[in-house]
Amino acid sequence: MSLTLTVDGERWRRHLRTFADATPGLVPVAKGNGYGFRVGRLARRAAWLGVDTLAVGTYDELAEVYQRFDGDLLVLTPWRPTCHEVPDGVPARRVIHTVSRLSDLLALIDRDPGARIVLERMTSMRRHGMSADELRTAARLLDRRPARVEGVALHLPLAGGTHLTEVMRLVNDVVAAELPTRTLWVSHLTPRELASLRTSYADFEVRPRIGTDLWLGDREALRVTATVLDVHEVERGDVFGYRGRTAPKAGHILVVSGGTAQGIGLEAPIGDHSLRARAATLARGGMDAVGFVRSPFTVDGKARLFAEPPHMQASMLFLPHGPRVPQVGDEIAVRVRHTATDFDRIVVT
Ligand SMILES: *Cc1c(COP(=O)(O)O)cnc(C)c1O
Repeated sequence: MSLTLTVDGERWRRHLRTFADATPGLVPVAKGNGYGFRVGRLARRAAWLGVDTLAVGTYDELAEVYQRFDGDLLVLTPWRPTCHEVPDGVPARRVIHTVSRLSDLLALIDRDPGARIVLERMTSMRRHGMSADELRTAARLLDRRPARVEGVALHLPLAGGTHLTEVMRLVNDVVAAELPTRTLWVSHLTPRELASLRTSYADFEVRPRIGTDLWLGDREALRVTATVLDVHEVERGDVFGYRGRTAPKAGHILVVSGGTAQGIGLEAPIGDHSLRARAATLARGGMDAVGFVRSPFTVDGKARLFAEPPHMQASMLFLPHGPRVPQVGDEIAVRVRHTATDFDRIVVT
């Protein structure tokens, strides 16, 4: 009765091992919904991979990982005076703080003079980070203080061709700042970009922080299914659902597990939502011409339409006559965004 993630354990572990072997300095990222696996499981996998550092998104997430992984813990969200509480039990010296503002740097070393610190340099993301000038000021502030500078972080945007020109410019700022560190924590560089960065700055240690390509890099190892909870035959004009809609033609209403609570949204995760595509569907007299939206649930390999917006833990689908009608208890495949889905069950085979 669940939205289930089934993991081919052997295949997944083989992919993780191969990826880690090919990625020197790898820092696995375990945050949010744990990319669908939950953060705790990822922490155990990171321990199994033998890496020395695990990155989490927030201070709260430290509580989920520190007993499952015993190396260093990098917090990706920058430290703020109002938002830095290390949960009870987490050894303070295992935590590496990301600091992105000079005022926060002063506040942090005031509270914890021996803090371990990664300074974030602003990138074209424009999310968090210091300018080149601020980085130089930070270096002066930290000079002869007991705080441990563990490196400089560069968080790059996902899209947009090559990052290499930007990265080289930013690393030059790091060199110019004369910080007492030779470690770069980078995000979203390709293996080739990482290799050329290492070639150009051979005296730096490069630490790629990676989540998606590591945990979700072999989709063949992952299968998502929903249970068919009920099946009702309908004639054209039959009323159904919370909104009293009528069936536009004869077919079946399927009730399947998985709804808004698991992150099943009204919008299909894959598909062409352009106006032109919609117009083409209208012209063909397709079902979404009468207001039906494609769902992520598939029957016979084809995405099926929501009969109405997803409910909290179940969804109603409309299946026109034609395809094989699944039976109560059958499992059907679902296409989801793993980073936005809370599975009821995770089964590792
Ligand atoms: C989430 C995150 C990552 C990992 O991103 P993926 O695209 O999942 O590899 C890396 N760096 C930072 C700062 C992040 O917040």
